Amino acid sequence: TKPAEKVADEGASYDIGLQNTENGVVTRFPPEPSGYLHIGHAKAALLNDYFAHKKYDGKMILRFDDTNPSKEKEEYQDSIVKDLELLGVKPDQVTYTSDYFQALYERCVQMIKDGHAYADNTPQEQMRDEREKRIESSHRNASVEDSLAHFEEMKKGTEEGTKWFVRAKMDMSSNNGAMRDPVIYRCNPEPHHRTGSTWKIYPTYDYACPVVDSVEGITHALRTTEYNDRDPQYQWFIKVLNLRGVYNWNFSRMNFIRTLLSKRKLTKLVDAGIVWGWDDPRMATVRGIRRRGMTIPALQEFILKQGPSKNINTMDWTTFWATNKKYIDPVATRYTAVVKQDAVKCIVAGAPEAPRTEEKDLHAKNADLGKKKVVFSKQIILDQVDAQSFDDDEEITLMNWGNAIVRKKQYSLNPLNVAASVAGTDQRLVTGLELELHLQGDVKKTSKKITWLSEDQDLVPVTLYDFDYLITKDKPEPDDKLEDILNHNTETKTEALADCNVASLKEDDIVQFDRKGFFRIDRAFKHGESVMAFQIPTGKKM
Ligand code: ATP
Ligand code: MG
Ligand code: MG
Repeated sequence: TKPAEKVADEGASYDIGLQNTENGVVTRFPPEPSGYLHIGHAKAALLNDYFAHKKYDGKMILRFDDTNPSKEKEEYQDSIVKDLELLGVKPDQVTYTSDYFQALYERCVQMIKDGHAYADNTPQEQMRDEREKRIESSHRNASVEDSLAHFEEMKKGTEEGTKWFVRAKMDMSSNNGAMRDPVIYRCNPEPHHRTGSTWKIYPTYDYACPVVDSVEGITHALRTTEYNDRDPQYQWFIKVLNLRGVYNWNFSRMNFIRTLLSKRKLTKLVDAGIVWGWDDPRMATVRGIRRRGMTIPALQEFILKQGPSKNINTMDWTTFWATNKKYIDPVATRYTAVVKQDAVKCIVAGAPEAPRTEEKDLHAKNADLGKKKVVFSKQIILDQVDAQSFDDDEEITLMNWGNAIVRKKQYSLNPLNVAASVAGTDQRLVTGLELELHLQGDVKKTSKKITWLSEDQDLVPVTLYDFDYLITKDKPEPDDKLEDILNHNTETKTEALADCNVASLKEDDIVQFDRKGFFRIDRAFKHGESVMAFQIPTGKKM
């Protein structure tokens, strides 16, 4: 069975105690098209999909919550559709909050007429202060006619209209701040990417969400726990507008250590050119983590295993990448790469006079993955660090070949660095080496298994990339300034040479360079241009 199916089965055991599921389950994933999906969104999408399609025989709606024309773009909308596809999330229907602008408008008029809403123009600061001190706005008890007139002014998008907004008349004395007359409509004359200039007024999420959920037949609205306080206002709208009931159900927001998951901040990173784009391998977007080498079944497993837990915690990336390793290790084909800088040229006594090529398995434990060519000859190269470590006459193992004894080492004249020579280690560059094959030696008895490459093949230039966290703070606070917590050194590049087989790797292939780790091929080999390979964390370091 494929990994994705296995995960679905495992997940089927979650019981989260959704009420009244016998009358059907309809969930929704409501992203705002104001950025690319990140791993937190992936959690919300996978959970909604899981309950609608795997746990219950229900339906799931993808609803674009497109109520803020200043932040939203078609590009984002398209990327969200594609990323969900990638995640294996299949909405039964795609809708837009903007499809309901007329219905939302009419209901707002109704609320004003019924005395459940009023127009207000209290300056923002003052309103915040008044809400905190539970002071009613001077407009709270304005006449219905006055409020309707201001709402019409807003609808026209006039200069005066932009100063007004509409608030729900809930309860200014409530201990729950969310109940203190939240704003439900704002005026914004900017054109909307779907409705153009038809509307100059836009409903807030607080108001649009319960109305549209109810109208669309959503039975269970899954939201992150920071909406707990807002459940009462959600239910208030349902009651006051006489809408079909919807259950709220909360799950915990996903946070990762040293990771930004706010679209506003991610947008900043992209716009400031700090990263290559939304799919940069350092970004915690769905595209970013994929480009870093995360596989979709591993992502599904990781998220569904967290499941619907309500505990809010900041995860580190260890388990995330360890989960991925389980998936890639059995299928990643194996190759060899040697670091180009100070690679040590080496003569192998006893090797075939003429280069000989053998076919070897691409994966020692998975013969189905096919074969690769391994070239054996007298001239090979090794990593400098390996050569440094050899003692005279030490018996080592050349991987996929056999044992050899270290015979002659040549050194550069100068110590590698001053500090080392001061410390008395007298480390110098190894500039040449002679090995003597000792194939009758026992490979189990050597402590060093060395990667090597015959020079009698077309070695392929590879740039090995390793990435670090974009920020320096484990748990960034909402008001941390990005500039203050940015990590300025997040990319390490190592030029290497790889075996001839690497020339036929394709973009997106996941491989292992023996002893160097797992890599995702980001750019395949083209003449004159090196392969770009991104190190995939395995849970040890990151
Ligand atoms: P951001 O702060 O990144 O912009 P958001 O909540 O404003 O996030 P939306 O597009 O409105 O972004 O989110 C769509 C859905 O994804 C919502 O239901 C939201 O609760 C959920 N979601 C967003 N971030 C996370 C997260 N870190 N963990 C779990 N769910 C999340
Ligand atoms: Mg939102
Ligand atoms: Mg947000």
